[in-house]
Amino acid sequence: MKIIVGQVTHETNTFASDETTKETFQLWEWCSGDEILQKHRKVRDYLGGIIDRAEELEIGVVPSFSAMAYPSGLINRKTYEELKDELFKRIEGEQADAICLSLHGAGVVDGSDDMEGDLLHELRKVVGYSIPIICTLDLHANLTEKMVKEADVLLGVNYYPHTDSYERGKEAIDVAVRVVQKEIQPVMSLAKLPLIIPTSTTNLSPAKDINELCWQWEKDPNVIDCTFFHGFPYTDTADVGVGILTITNNDTELAENISNSIAETIMERKEQFFPPALAPKEGIEKALRVNGNPIVINETSDNPGGGTPGDGTYLLRTMLEMNLENACFGYIYDKEVVQIAHEAGVGSMIKVELGGKTDSLHGKPIAITAYVKSLTDGQFIQSSPMWGGLRVNLGKTVRLQVGGVDIIVCSVKSQVLDEQVFLLHGIDISKYKIVALKSSQHFRAAFEPLSKEIITVDSPGLTTMDFTTFDFKKLQRPIYPLDAVVKI
Ligand SMILES: [Zn+2]
Repeated sequence: MKIIVGQVTHETNTFASDETTKETFQLWEWCSGDEILQKHRKVRDYLGGIIDRAEELEIGVVPSFSAMAYPSGLINRKTYEELKDELFKRIEGEQADAICLSLHGAGVVDGSDDMEGDLLHELRKVVGYSIPIICTLDLHANLTEKMVKEADVLLGVNYYPHTDSYERGKEAIDVAVRVVQKEIQPVMSLAKLPLIIPTSTTNLSPAKDINELCWQWEKDPNVIDCTFFHGFPYTDTADVGVGILTITNNDTELAENISNSIAETIMERKEQFFPPALAPKEGIEKALRVNGNPIVINETSDNPGGGTPGDGTYLLRTMLEMNLENACFGYIYDKEVVQIAHEAGVGSMIKVELGGKTDSLHGKPIAITAYVKSLTDGQFIQSSPMWGGLRVNLGKTVRLQVGGVDIIVCSVKSQVLDEQVFLLHGIDISKYKIVALKSSQHFRAAFEPLSKEIITVDSPGLTTMDFTTFDFKKLQRPIYPLDAVVKI
C-alpha cells in the first residue's frame, strides 16, 4: 500500500492587520519531499503521527508538500496559488492508494473564505473521486459542507490543548487502511450551530462534558468518529462557528441523529462557555492573594496562537505599575528592542519603548529603563505534551530586568507552550510568585502540572473573550452570544 502525505495549515484571523505571505509560511514551514519526513518523524504532531504509523505498518509513504504558518491575517492570493501548485504537482500522476493530509480548517484566502473546502475541491480535479482523501483537522476548524463533500474522512483533535494531534495522525492512517481495504464505507454528517465560543479548554467543563458525550457515541461499533469542533471565532466568514461532525460506517441517519443530538445539548449549555473575565489588575491582585507559587497568569486577549501581534502591553504594563517583586513575563515580541539589547550587550542598561508597535488595539508601548541580563539565539526543542520534539526558533532574544520583573523579549511572535523559553534565559519558574505569558489554553498542557493556580486575564485584543468588540460583516446571523435568542 502507498499513501501520499502532506500538510497545509493556517488559522486565519481576518481581523489581524498583517497579510499572510509565502515569507510568513517560510518562517515556520514550506518544504517538500523527504524534508517533510526529516522534520516530522517522531514529532508529536499530526504529520508525525501520520508518518510514524504508516512506517510502522510498512506502508509506502509519499511525502508531497507541507506548508504551515503561525496564525495571522488573510492569506494573499498569490501565496495560496503557489502553495496549491506545489502540492498538486507532487501528487499528480503519483500511483497511490490514499491521500492523508494535515489541514487546519480555519484558513481564509483573499477571495476564498473556505480555504480547505477550496483546496480539497481543486485537489479532486487533479486526482478524481476514486482515491480516498483522509484529513486531520484542528479543533478550531470552521467546518463547511464543502469540506465534508470533498473529503472522505475528516478527523479533528479532541483535546484543547491539542495534545492528541499525534494520535489523530495515526488514526488517519488506520482509517485510510480500512477504507482502502473496503472494510468500511465512511459517511459524514455535520451539524453547524448558531454559536461562537471563546477558547474553551477541554480539561474543564463544559467542553470536557461534550467530549465525553462524543466518546459515548463512539462506543457504537457503527460510529467511526464523533468530534466537537469549537470553531475559530476570530475570523469573519459565513461559516464561523461550532460544529459537530459524526462519521459512521455507511449509516447516514445514525450520523445525522448523533450530530443533532449533541448540537442540542451544546445549545442548552451555551451560557456556560462564557465565564466572567478578569482585567489584568484584578487578575494580579487575585494571584497575590493565593498562598504558594508559581501563579500563572495568561493574557488570553493577545494570544499569538490566534493571530494576534504578541506585542500587547496591557498585562505587562500593569505588572510594572504595580511594582511586582519576583515576577516574570515570557514573552513579548519586539524585534527592535531585542536588537538594541544585543548591540548594548549583557550587563548594560537600555532605555527603550517596549511592545505595542503593531497596532493600536493591544496597548501603547511601555517606556522602560532595563538591565540586560542575558541574550540568546531563541532556539530550543519543545517539551510540551503538545507537539513535543518540534524545533522552535524565536530569533534573537533578551532577558530584561525592570525592578522585580524579568521580561523575555523575542524576535518571532508565538504563544508560549512550555517552560523552555524561560529555561533558555536561566529562569526557573518554580521560584517565581507570578509567571505571566501570552496564550489562551495551549500553555495548560505544560503549565498545569507546574503551577499552583492559573488565572486568565482579558483586555482589548484580537483574541479577547468579548465578541462584541469585533465588526463582523459576513458572519451568519443570528448567532449566540451576539444575538440573544437563537434556535437550531
Ligand atoms: Zn486549535
